[in-house]
Amino acid sequence: MEPGYIALYHYGELERRARALEARLASCDICPRECRVDRLQDEPAYCHSGRLPIVSAVCAHHGEEPAISGTGGSGTVFFGNCNMRCVYCQNYQISQDWKKQKSKEMDCHTLAERMLYLQDGLGCHNINFVSPSHFVPQLLRAVMEAVPMGLRVPLVYNTGGYDSIASLKKLDGVISIYLPDLRYASDRWAKKFSHAPDYVARARQAIKEMYRQVGDLVVDESGLAQKGLIVRHLILPNRLAGSEESLTWLIRDLSPAVTVSIMSQYKPVHRAPRIPLLSRNITVAEHEKVLRLLADLGIENGWVQEMGAAEEYLPDFEREGHPFSDPTVISSTFPPVISSPDLSGRGNPNS
Ligand code: SF4
Repeated sequence: MEPGYIALYHYGELERRARALEARLASCDICPRECRVDRLQDEPAYCHSGRLPIVSAVCAHHGEEPAISGTGGSGTVFFGNCNMRCVYCQNYQISQDWKKQKSKEMDCHTLAERMLYLQDGLGCHNINFVSPSHFVPQLLRAVMEAVPMGLRVPLVYNTGGYDSIASLKKLDGVISIYLPDLRYASDRWAKKFSHAPDYVARARQAIKEMYRQVGDLVVDESGLAQKGLIVRHLILPNRLAGSEESLTWLIRDLSPAVTVSIMSQYKPVHRAPRIPLLSRNITVAEHEKVLRLLADLGIENGWVQEMGAAEEYLPDFEREGHPFSDPTVISSTFPPVISSPDLSGRGNPNS
């Protein structure tokens, strides 16, 4: 299946979209915060990000869901900074240390070369943009640059879920696989722990738009994702993630065939050790409760991380070479314990 961005490039549509997005940087509304600062002039913004993309790490990642990592790994581009401020962010070294991240700025042509390195040099199955919500214009421009260099693998949009619908619409046909988080079912907790007081409505709208574009997950004969939506849900201690409400919303309001990835890797890092409600790992009982929910709701497609994943998944972006300690061990903790995604290629009727 040829990714849609190749045809969009040849029609000139990628260039039109990249220009339209870049124009919006002059009064930035690229994400739901709508700061209206001039990022083309590098004016200070909530996301501490200006005209150029900030790329904090580029690597083959073997610890994503099996349909994303496959055997060759997912070609991960970790963008620096973020449009949220999660107090427990496991990537806090690159998401919330903007002074250090400034030195990781690169131009879009260099980013395109890194993408080609992931595809051709490392043999990755896809390009996986992590925390891209504040860099959508730069992402699209880099794809523009990469197509004539030979980019041909599917693109993954791996986001915290706090995304602008207008920005997402510019990615229609460009992104093959959406991998959003659905972090909360309560704006109270979203405000307190991620500084995103309208997260629930924004993330649900964004996930609906992603689903409209790509539909249910489609995998190839080897189980690799080709197109579709995978929603990640991180179990937080003390039911702060609102698992029951979020999973019920997914299955009832989005799709009974939705593919979910239940993450059990929560570990109190960054500011969380000082916050009593967040200062411990999840318990076996909390994990089992979510497993029962999956069964009760009839959620059949996706993966569940085993308990004990917290240590293996913690990245260290200051480590030499690779942010994850042992990528091979990591992937073994992510078994397909619900069931394999639908192989029939059933798509979204709206797309
Ligand atoms: S992308 Fe950054 S500057 Fe633009 S609206 Fe979002 S937080 Fe503000």
